[in-house]
Amino acid sequence: MSNVDASEIDKFSELAHHWWDPNSEFKPLHDINPLRLGWIDRHAQLAGKRVIDVGCGGGILSESMADKGAEVTGIDLGEKALKVARLHLLESGRKVDYRHIAAEDMAAQNPAAFDAVTCMEMLEHVPSPASIVQACAQLARPGGWVFFSTLNRNLKSYAFAVLGAEYLLKLLPRGTHDYAKFIKPAELASFARDAGLEVVDLVGMTYNPLTKVYALEDDTGVNYLMACRKPA
Ligand code: SAH
Repeated sequence: MSNVDASEIDKFSELAHHWWDPNSEFKPLHDINPLRLGWIDRHAQLAGKRVIDVGCGGGILSESMADKGAEVTGIDLGEKALKVARLHLLESGRKVDYRHIAAEDMAAQNPAAFDAVTCMEMLEHVPSPASIVQACAQLARPGGWVFFSTLNRNLKSYAFAVLGAEYLLKLLPRGTHDYAKFIKPAELASFARDAGLEVVDLVGMTYNPLTKVYALEDDTGVNYLMACRKPA
């Protein structure tokens, strides 16, 4: 349980009651959800699959994967987020098994138990992303999928994800992201390969502040998603 930054958990806990408000600090996650869900589903064909969502927060992605017919487990170390996630199931009528457990502990207890593992917008908030990647790989069955998304680290991502999103457009509260913790795609790919995964897809996610439209594109300069497979 040591791979956790308490100040990161506190940061998300303070906002927890807003998780399902599509016009709150979590608006960007609501807005990008259909895009990432479609991309994950195209790769992993979620219907009927056992999926674990690592760092699930209030369950925006978890619930949408359940809606696609997956049997979803969501884990996070934020108690408040999980409480909100469980409460929201009463409203949505969907089924997700939410658990307060570290990714590394879940992996030790349930190795190779899942057809797909998702870990979105979470790696840039933990002390050791490599350890989370390792745990995600361990959770996947041979032939299973592991999906990550995070923020690239360069001048452009600093300008867009920190200055643009937090200061200029105020899409996110100040201090949401710590530039030093951003991860280059090559670094994430190296964590994945060290964990025995094959990288099979890398896409960028862009935001146009004029049209307010998010899109999946080749440009991985700021936000990006990576799909990996565990060899069968
Ligand atoms: N994956 C969700 C939420 C992203 S927000 C989505 O994309 O919609 C980041 C989440 O990571 C928060 O819910 C926070 O509580 C969680 N988190 C941060 N550090 C963590 C850790 N060490 N272990 C598990 N969850 C963590």
